[in-house]
Amino acid sequence: MTDDKEKPETTLSSAGRMSKAHFGVVNTPVYRASTILYPSVAALDAHDMPFTYGRRGNPTLKSLEDAINVLEGAARTLFVPSGLNAVATAILSVCGAGDHLLVADTCYAPSRVFCDKTLKRFGVETTYYDPLIGANIVSLFRPNTKAVFCESPGSLTFEVQDVPAIASVAHARGASVLLDNTWATPLHYPALARGADLSIQAVTKYIGGHADVMMGYVAANESHAARLLELHGNSGLYVSGDDCFLALRGLRTLAVRLKRHQATALTLAQWLRTRPEVSRILCPVLEDDPGHAIWKRDFSGGCGLFGVVLKPASHEAVSAMLDRLVHFGLGFSWGGYESLIVPADIRRTASKFAAEGPVIRIHAGLEDPGDLIADLTKGFERLRAAS
Ligand SMILES: *Cc1c(COP(=O)(O)O)cnc(C)c1O
Repeated sequence: MTDDKEKPETTLSSAGRMSKAHFGVVNTPVYRASTILYPSVAALDAHDMPFTYGRRGNPTLKSLEDAINVLEGAARTLFVPSGLNAVATAILSVCGAGDHLLVADTCYAPSRVFCDKTLKRFGVETTYYDPLIGANIVSLFRPNTKAVFCESPGSLTFEVQDVPAIASVAHARGASVLLDNTWATPLHYPALARGADLSIQAVTKYIGGHADVMMGYVAANESHAARLLELHGNSGLYVSGDDCFLALRGLRTLAVRLKRHQATALTLAQWLRTRPEVSRILCPVLEDDPGHAIWKRDFSGGCGLFGVVLKPASHEAVSAMLDRLVHFGLGFSWGGYESLIVPADIRRTASKFAAEGPVIRIHAGLEDPGDLIADLTKGFERLRAAS
């Protein structure tokens, strides 16, 4: 269906479509299914049907999986009810009792809680590492180190990891590399091609794109597909046909949305850095960002999410600024069409992040950038008045 020359934007439009099987209808319809009927006992015995049971998938899910397999260059992609579950499922597919796991200190906070509470209870020990460690990660390896978990850029502070360098160290020691690639999406960072064995995505964010679906996936290379499929099947993970339809619908417009999200984020960032209330911007797309060189080497784009380190200000002053913004919602998650803003709560154990003042995280939505700047301008007036 695809050849080597096809561009990802084209793949987004074409991959996973099954129009012929659906009377020419462009999009695979929503299938809602639990029981699948077999024509004979012989067929039951052989599980000889394209779809065997609702939990194991239906044509809507198949369309989504086919599309993501092409986009990720994956042997298999398994879909799960949330991005956090994708993190958990990826780790559980490679680690068991007695194993050791290395996790980036800048990972999504709930991923850290999963490691510290749940994995620990099942006998997996986690060591956090400085996200900028690169090939020096070799010093943290133990004989029982089974996997290295990366997230790049890191949550809240946006450090870019040298995933290829980390992967070559890990692979030389027989360890797996897992990458939470939610920020860049497979469109802007080819996780498996950069050395990850399992590419993790919170579909909830940019692939869904409309703040109306919770979903995650893990895309596996050839060597990791079988164990991922086994864990996924044995633990009964399932996503609905309705949600698959929404994810596919979002996927088709991912490229245009990401371009616009990134352009508006850069417009806001350039304006913000001229403001006296701002100390610095955290965004590897900016040329003077410490992560820019690796970003430029490994990524083909960015997105709408970035951080802002303010000059020292009280929590009350920041609240006065954020509480009455009109176009920026106060809410967790991101990746939808709407702009969001939240104070960032940075937690580290293996590395330091020295912030001059409070850190806020902005998701630049699809609104007019001028309207967003006008909104933030009034916000800064409230910040100053409350300081
Ligand atoms: C939001 C997020 C997740 C979790 O996704 P949910 O669908 O909300 O569970 C995982 N990783 C990163 C980097 C995220 O931003």
